[in-house]
Order: sequence, then structure tokens, then C-alpha cells
Amino acid sequence: MRPEDLLVPTPQGLYCPPADCHIDPMRPVARALVTHGHADHARPGNDAVMATPETLAIMAARYGEAFCATRQPAPYGAKTRINDVTVSFHPAGHVLGAAQILFEWKGFRAVVSGDYKRQGDPTAAPFEVVPCDLFVTEATFGLPVFRHPDAAEEVAKLIDSVELFPERAHLVGAYSLGKAQRLMKLLRLRGWDRPIHLHGAMVRVTETYRELGIELGETVQVKAADRKELAGAIVLCPPSALRELWARKFPDPVTVAASGWMRVRARARQKGVELPLVVSDHADWDDLRQTILDTDAQEIWVTHGEEDALVHWCGTSGLKARPLRLVGYGDEGETDEPAGEGGGGVIPAEGRSPPGRDRKPDEALDLDDDPGSALRPGRDDATP
Ligand SMILES: [Zn+2]
Ligand SMILES: [Zn+2]
Repeated sequence: MRPEDLLVPTPQGLYCPPADCHIDPMRPVARALVTHGHADHARPGNDAVMATPETLAIMAARYGEAFCATRQPAPYGAKTRINDVTVSFHPAGHVLGAAQILFEWKGFRAVVSGDYKRQGDPTAAPFEVVPCDLFVTEATFGLPVFRHPDAAEEVAKLIDSVELFPERAHLVGAYSLGKAQRLMKLLRLRGWDRPIHLHGAMVRVTETYRELGIELGETVQVKAADRKELAGAIVLCPPSALRELWARKFPDPVTVAASGWMRVRARARQKGVELPLVVSDHADWDDLRQTILDTDAQEIWVTHGEEDALVHWCGTSGLKARPLRLVGYGDEGETDEPAGEGGGGVIPAEGRSPPGRDRKPDEALDLDDDPGSALRPGRDDATP
């Protein structure tokens, strides 16, 4: 059999014909298998949704309880038969509840990894290597320049800065789902025991993390009235809020951003980020390659990000690889400015401009989302 008999790109997203389901569909479908709660993977309006219990809870928090007609919880490791395909979800280490999905069919194993990371994260189950024949991988940071340092050490820099500038508020731009909670937890583990202040956009999803058992210590929502009193406070907000009026009423704020893109110092400077923290929820170049080797897969499909460099590397390692060119992915918060409407669909490889820095407009490589995105349903936070 060919891998394409089990998984095939369609305008709605990756489709599994023998199980008649889509994975992370970009448009509503009858049956969706969802890897994790980020808006470019999890969208409302599907009929049936199968995902980990955590991802289902996050979707309900972001989109409302009616985000789909029927929910099918898939705890990590549990096997489910869909027609004659066996499906199971395995930890991806990306955000709480994030999963790689394993499809077993006629002795062939395919893993769709969604977004993943290997670096430790006290708010997510650790990534699990799932041996397979076909591995579908992301490539958000699929260039040799991207190497992520230890996130705990990056967070220590934030605490050092607060000690150095106790009269200044530290405004930390971090994506509302996953990144923000990871930072909170890392701050706690580093001994930060004062309340952590939150922009309103991240309150709800933070509450969902708590309900799912992640201890985050005391958090306080920032109100317009109290901003002047937040000298020496750590305030988490969506990255875009750093540039808005919202940020201006703090006492002499230090602008901080936590993202894998902060590896590129010129970008941090250009964004006016005073203290860049290289904290990513995606695999870096080394971990992408190591993971591909670890799965032992002989065929690799590469989705959103820097597909071409990773596909090229696979070729030099004797692996069959191709870019998937699925439009619509790109983590809000770490890869792209929202593209507005029209995400979704497959375009042929020729339809894309060449890889590298020129491919996306400079703003598009940003780490932004916006204050409302955590709560606003149905938006396409997507790569054009
Ligand atoms: Zn993601
Ligand atoms: Zn993604």
C-alpha cells in the first residue's frame, strides 16, 4: 500500500479515507481529530470531534460548549477503532493536552504530530516517540539558526531584571494558550511567589489550565485603574498588547517577549523588545531532526513552517520527504500575524514563493496574536 491510501491532503485539511475523518481540519467537517487547542488546529463548527480530554476542555473554553455536536475524548494511549483503522493519541509536549495521532492500518503506521517539542514543560505531558512508517512533522523552526536554550534559564533572566529594576513593571508578551501558563509555572519553580498579573485575554484559558490540574499560583487580572501601581510586577499579555495603548499606562515598563523568534536579535530590536526571552513551544532544528530519526519513519511529510530546509535535510539523510503545503497552519503566537479570512486549503508547491525570510512579510514572522484571540471563535490565525 501507499502512504497516500491512508492519509491524503484535501482542501479541508489532512484526510484519512479508510477512517473517513480529517485531522485538524481548517473547515468544518463531519468527523475531526484535533491535535491541540491552538486556533490554527482546533476550529469550531465540526460535527464530531475526537481529541484528548484536555483539548476538548480548552476548545470549550475558547469557543463555547457548542463548539461541536459530539465530543469523543481520547485519553493518551487509548486505542479506538474507526472502521478498520486503529487510532490513538500520544503526548506531543507542545501545550496541555497536545497530541500526536497514530493511525494503524493494514500493518502500516502513520503519525501526525501536530505541533510538538522535546524540551521539558511542567504544564504538558512529555513528548513520546511513536515509531512509525510515515511521520508528518511541523517545521516552524526548521532552520539551523533556531536552537532553543533552556527555558528555565530564560525565565531566570526575567526575575533578574525585576530585581535590577524594581520600580519598573515587566510586561511579558506571550501567547495566551500554553506559553503564558508555561511561563507562570516556570516562574513559580524559580521561586517567584508574588501574584502574577494577567491581561484579560488570558484569564479564561489560565482558569481552564487550573481546572485541569495545573497549579499556577496566585494570578490577578490587570485593570486599567491599577496599572500605575504595578511597579516591580510581572504582567503577562498577548504579544500584540505590548504595542497597544494598553501597555502605556504602566510605570516605566520593560518590554519583554517570550518566543522562539527571539533568537533573532534583530527582530527583537525591531519590535522594540527590551528583554527577549527565547522560550518556544516548538521543536528546534536539532530536535526536529532527532525526532525524525527517532521515529524510524522512512517517509516524512513536512507541514507549516520552514518545510524546504527540513525536506532537504531528510533527502541528505536518505529519507523520502515532501512538503505538504497545507495552508492554514502556523501557530498564532509564535509564527504569524493573523491572516484574516481565507485560510484553509491546499495549494500546489509551485504556488508558493521560495523559502526563507522573503517568503513572509516581515510582520508575518512575528510572535503576535491579539488580546481577543483567546476568546474569539472562528478566527483564522493562519499563514497566508
Ligand atoms: Zn500549536
Ligand atoms: Zn501549528
